[in-house]
Amino acid sequence: MTAPVLRICHLYPELMNIYGDRGNVIALTMRCRWRGWEVQVTGLSLGDPLDPSRYDLYFMGGGQDREQMMVCEDLAGEKGEALRAAVEDGAALLSICGGYQLLGKRFLTCTGEDLPGISLFDAETVGGDTRFIGNVAVRCRLEGMEGTLVGFENHSGRTRLGPAGKPLGEVIKGYGNNGEDGSEGCVYRHAIGTYLHGSLLPKNPSLADWLILRALRRRYDLEQLPPLDDALEEEAHRAALYMVLRKGPRLRLPRWGGWRASGRFG
Ligand code: GLN
Repeated sequence: MTAPVLRICHLYPELMNIYGDRGNVIALTMRCRWRGWEVQVTGLSLGDPLDPSRYDLYFMGGGQDREQMMVCEDLAGEKGEALRAAVEDGAALLSICGGYQLLGKRFLTCTGEDLPGISLFDAETVGGDTRFIGNVAVRCRLEGMEGTLVGFENHSGRTRLGPAGKPLGEVIKGYGNNGEDGSEGCVYRHAIGTYLHGSLLPKNPSLADWLILRALRRRYDLEQLPPLDDALEEEAHRAALYMVLRKGPRLRLPRWGGWRASGRFG
């Protein structure tokens, strides 16, 4: 088999990028390069056409309501249809917060703007008058992957899943989709929507590999990805999980390198 080349489409990189969301693209890129594989990242923004056959993995980060309005208009029609077609064809996708909201059916902002989504996810979002802010831990179940996810959320939108909407996981701590029903995010085929900023993928390496494997399997004969030494990533995951569960802004973390030596998470 020739060495895989992962083709990433980064949607609206300059408009939809808060709380380090771009770090997800860096994590995906590095996890392929560490395996000796090439990665091509193409940014597509307002007015750029989307050819669904050109990419394996799509990423869209979060954004404020103002940016979401511009993106919503741009995604209406052909571009949104092309993105849906790509996911139907098996492409992988990760969307965070404001990006996730626009891939549902509709986002009604807290100032009354009605933003139609592309209906990739059976989900509707309504802006609330308070914000859900804080660290989050989620129990996640995906085909071939089960475990915890850690991240940071900051949103006024409350998302409700429809009957076909399958959550990404259950909230252990935090608010998730709406602060009421315990669900977090949504999954459709190999597309994931989630409220978890962070960046999410550097400290949730299994999710990064879940996306990479599904993205590449369409074009390459891959059973599994070659494993990487994820000791640091797993420490970051455990440290974040510990912080969320202990609710610890005042928690004093050991200096870098202290985790393993202290054995506190062993
Ligand atoms: N504007 C949206 C909300 O507040 C999304 C914010 C974000 O992406 N963090 O719900």
